[in-house]
Amino acid sequence: MTLSSGVGAATAVARLRRTFDAGTTRPLDWRRAQLKGLIRLFAEREVDLTDALHADLGKSRLEGLVSELSLVRAEAEYALQHLTAWATAERVPVPAGLLPAAAHRQAQPLGVVLIIGPWNYPVQLLLSPLVGALAAGNCAVLKPSELAPATSAVIADLLPLYCDDTAVTVMEGGPEVSTELLSQQYDSIFFTGGARVGRIVAHAAAEQLTPVTLELGGKSPAVVMDGNLRAVARRLIFGKFLNAGQTCVAPDYVLVTAGLETQLLQHLKEALAEFYGRDPHRSADYGRIINEQHFDRLVALLGSGTVYTGGAHDRAIRYLEPTLLTAVRPDSPVMQEEIFGPILPILAVSGMDEAVNFINSRPSPLAAYLFSNESTARQDFEARVRAGAIGHNACNLHLTVPGLPFGGVGDSGTGAYHGRYSFDTFSQLRGVLSKGTGIDTLRLAYPPHTGLKRWLLRRLL
Ligand code: NAD
Repeated sequence: MTLSSGVGAATAVARLRRTFDAGTTRPLDWRRAQLKGLIRLFAEREVDLTDALHADLGKSRLEGLVSELSLVRAEAEYALQHLTAWATAERVPVPAGLLPAAAHRQAQPLGVVLIIGPWNYPVQLLLSPLVGALAAGNCAVLKPSELAPATSAVIADLLPLYCDDTAVTVMEGGPEVSTELLSQQYDSIFFTGGARVGRIVAHAAAEQLTPVTLELGGKSPAVVMDGNLRAVARRLIFGKFLNAGQTCVAPDYVLVTAGLETQLLQHLKEALAEFYGRDPHRSADYGRIINEQHFDRLVALLGSGTVYTGGAHDRAIRYLEPTLLTAVRPDSPVMQEEIFGPILPILAVSGMDEAVNFINSRPSPLAAYLFSNESTARQDFEARVRAGAIGHNACNLHLTVPGLPFGGVGDSGTGAYHGRYSFDTFSQLRGVLSKGTGIDTLRLAYPPHTGLKRWLLRRLL
């Protein structure tokens, strides 16, 4: 079922609630069928989805496939493979004083969940949480971002053909649709986006005492201490300029240890030329800025330092050349907000202590990256830096490992998903204790607590 702005959120949610209450979504076979449906969607409709991503973000077909479709498909396959184990009840030992008895814990579906997505990875960040929601046996309302209208429309059209449309609903539209949706009661809300809207969502969830997962952003630092600078530069450029820098875990800025700055800058420039050619404007692998508002915001940030390379821009096609900025002051605008675009400031630091202090004195980022071949430096970084995730000598890639939880901490969010963590996020882990009535050993605990009972209870406890 696909609804658009103006069509009642209350009606949509009530319909899903009826599906959930009827028990439709509980059987594992139903859940498997939904996951298989998603996998088929990516196999059969790859072109529709990647064309939409190209229309919204200028993503090449391969980038759309690698950074969006294949990640969700891998999540669905992983969930399919592990679903039985995740959903099976686990026995738990019972304290001696309660015997004879048995206890188990088992994941239960939560009910009807709301998933609100952003525009930058509009397929992955809407459908990857859906994998968890469906694997855990829930119904879901999806609210894609209005800033990626082609992708939003194609998901709204196709999803009902591949998933049970009495259990999954797409509501297209902007903040007004979100606001209407947030006035409804859910059993969980999963939000990916910026901190400003995150606060609005958390507030609405608190009103209804609804659990909320917030996947937010922030300024993810990359610290360069030592190593093969050619490889370091390539990895930084790959992580940063994918999707024209509009990636939540992209390295936002680089802190390079003093003495390596000149060499690193040279390698970064070479890696840019290697990846996108002398004129990135012509590269089929380089994306565009999502809209004029973000384009204007980014162009204004160019004034925060000296352009080492890049800086060319064309508003008509929302093109901003991959840009390296030097001579950036820590209090300049580009260092105050999440850049979320193709501008990479490079700042020199005296060493690890200054880098760690710099990072920890700012809001906690979604990821922090260290480039070093020294294991003591890595351990030090891991122990001292507060961030949603750590990457050693690799940017962005941790999110492709289904065994790793993906989420922020503090300002970068609350809760985590991917793999098992997605299933857990959309489940209630319920405890069950069972006793028979044949032998009433509990009599010992019943009042009146006379002398002998008290003596025995104290010994038992
Ligand atoms: P956003 O917060 O502007 O919008 C996200 C969603 O919220 C959209 O669907 C939008 O329609 C909705 N929304 C907008 N205003 C609203 C309101 N007043 N009330 C309710 N809903 C409203 O974020 P964005 O610009 O789409 O995405 C960029 C941000 O998302 C960046 O900060 C980025 O770091 C973050 N992000 C985080 C992750 C992650 O996995 N942690 C991934 C991608 C993006």
